[in-house]
Amino acid sequence: MLRQIYLDNAATTAVFPEVVKTMLPYFTEQYGNPSSLYEFGQSTKAAITDARARIATHLNAQAQDIYFTSCGTESDNWALKATAEAYAHKGKHIITSSIEHHAISHSAEWLEKQGFELTYLPVDTDGLIAPAELASAIREDTTLVSIIFANNEIGTIQPIAELAAIAHERGALFHTDAVQAVAHVPIDVEALDVDMLSASAHKFHGPKGVGLLYVRKGVKTRSFLHGGAQERKRRAGTENVPSIMGMAQALDICMERFDERVAHEQELRDHLIDRVLAEVDHVRLNGHRTLRLPNNANFSFEFVEGESLLLTLEQKGVLGSSGSACASGSLDPSHVLLAIGLPHEIAHGSLRLTLSEETTRADIDYTVEAIKEVVKRLRDMSPLFEDFTQGKKALSAVR
Ligand code: PLP
Repeated sequence: MLRQIYLDNAATTAVFPEVVKTMLPYFTEQYGNPSSLYEFGQSTKAAITDARARIATHLNAQAQDIYFTSCGTESDNWALKATAEAYAHKGKHIITSSIEHHAISHSAEWLEKQGFELTYLPVDTDGLIAPAELASAIREDTTLVSIIFANNEIGTIQPIAELAAIAHERGALFHTDAVQAVAHVPIDVEALDVDMLSASAHKFHGPKGVGLLYVRKGVKTRSFLHGGAQERKRRAGTENVPSIMGMAQALDICMERFDERVAHEQELRDHLIDRVLAEVDHVRLNGHRTLRLPNNANFSFEFVEGESLLLTLEQKGVLGSSGSACASGSLDPSHVLLAIGLPHEIAHGSLRLTLSEETTRADIDYTVEAIKEVVKRLRDMSPLFEDFTQGKKALSAVR
């Protein structure tokens, strides 16, 4: 049977078996509605109160500042839209970056249609935002700054504490989309001094369809979903008890073995990066070499088409993701790769590989051999590469 090597953990992760075990009783035995006054409901309310407190501890937050949502996308939409609206009387200028996940960038575009003015901060070739860029973009009427903690495509980690401090000095609130960062990078909302933070359980071995928004006490974000009085009247809807319990358990497990897990992933990530850069020609690493998620590697291969690379790697059992947004029905290269300055043709030949603690050195060595073979095969079929090797045309790779 073909060996499967799953290297798409930024897309989603396997739910830990212990997490599934924790969730099961909440479907069939302890299924009471937390809003019901009888004990059968109150015991599930107590369970989610405990889950909230455990999650808060891992983020160094106050339990009452954690709001459960249906996913990272909802948390991002809530943070951006409801906060923009709540502070619109003070100003209608919002700052974000040019490398946000669509949950933020499409919310920002929606806000523009509602009459808000948005500034999209540029990034350098490593995908880093310069704090000075934020300082010069911020204005009297800026109410909110939202910057992705760690990029989902290229893995670059932003100087969040520094950016939040600049926003606060100038009287703006600061939100960070930490969906890829939680459980992968140490997070302390007090030390970072962020006002809001989004996370999603399926990125750290919890179930899909549950997330959270941290909202610091005093931030006047409006309710995003209207209805019942759940989540202290700020997010209506009967709580997804099994998933909330699963999210808390997944984070407990991730944080319990944080150091060894991250060290393992980082060592294998570096082994992967070093081997690919040394053994494949005409390739570049996207994202910062060290300020990057411990499990992320993102490469651009010249003279190769990302989708062909992905599909051929899949035939060898290696599952990764490409740099173009074809999942959204478009063949445009990713806005993140364009923002770091890649020309279209090079952005098209991109491959993201994201590891987990289950990934082994043998998996990485197998993957590197598969990449070498597949890249060679695709280039052998490429007229562009033939032109290049015959010296007819040189491609202008960004280095
Ligand atoms: N933000 C980032 C950075 C992400 O990577 C993702 C998912 O890929 C999301 C938000 C959306 O999270 P969810 O899938 O839980 O809606």
